[in-house]
Amino acid sequence: MGKNVMVVGLLLAVFALSGCNRQDVPPKVTVRPVVVTTLFPLYDYARILAGDRMEVQLLLPPGLEPHHFEPRPDDLLRIHRAALFIYIGPFLEPWAERVITGVDRQKLRVVAAAEGIPLLPAPTHAGGVHGHQHQRSQAANDPHVWLDFAADQTMVATIASAMSAVDPAGADQYRQRADVLVRQLIALDERYRQGLASCESRVLLHGGHAAFGYLAHRYGLTYQAAAGVTAELEATPRRMAELVQQVREYKVKAVFVEQLDSPRLAETLATETGVTVRRLHGAHNVGRDELQQGVSFIGLMDQNLAQLQAGLACKN
Ligand SMILES: [Zn+2]
Repeated sequence: MGKNVMVVGLLLAVFALSGCNRQDVPPKVTVRPVVVTTLFPLYDYARILAGDRMEVQLLLPPGLEPHHFEPRPDDLLRIHRAALFIYIGPFLEPWAERVITGVDRQKLRVVAAAEGIPLLPAPTHAGGVHGHQHQRSQAANDPHVWLDFAADQTMVATIASAMSAVDPAGADQYRQRADVLVRQLIALDERYRQGLASCESRVLLHGGHAAFGYLAHRYGLTYQAAAGVTAELEATPRRMAELVQQVREYKVKAVFVEQLDSPRLAETLATETGVTVRRLHGAHNVGRDELQQGVSFIGLMDQNLAQLQAGLACKN
């Protein structure tokens, strides 16, 4: 502290001597710690907590799905130059382990935000693994933890404490903002509980990769997805036939499709059965437009709730 005061004093003296007026003072150079995040929810939480104390970056290019992301050399550079690297966990970003081996942990703090959060098993019904048998063992668990709003609360707290470790002077801000964000997530959870309490259908039929298992589990919906937990898996004809049968059996009115999935499967189901197609946002990542509009994770989840309530014919 004393040192900073001295430096400022010295600078003032220099300006005074050189006769600088206000306009001539060079812009204050503030080197803010850089935070690199992998997925949109982490980016969203980090920027809310950081305010203008840190520079928060989203590693994934807009619109790109993360399940098969491989960092390029300039991504590695970005991570290595950052003060804080936040990812979900090795079950979602297996490449992260390679990237962070050998980095100087004094300079780069690494946080697996979902560490310690219990994972749900990958749904077994989504067996459409079409020549990707090796994927089965890799995806024993469902990696989409951010679609469980209790897990989000834990991740927010984890990110806030990592930020405090990087920038102890901002600890009060990180803690206070984390408290506000956690309260907003609790309120979101409550809106979901009430909004999905009384619905004509409790079957969340998803014509895409199984991203919404946590959400369905938390609010007591039966989840049926056409494909497995990673985005490349395709539904087998057998799985499609099962889904068509379920539409009829459970009198399903809507089939849902995720933002990053091709709508083809859902459209096929809709054509075969006459149900409507509704869009859900998995929030793995967002598009360039959404990024520019400043969408928030909670905002996207409220849009999802409206889609679910309409598609499942809920009363509240
Ligand atoms: Zn996914």
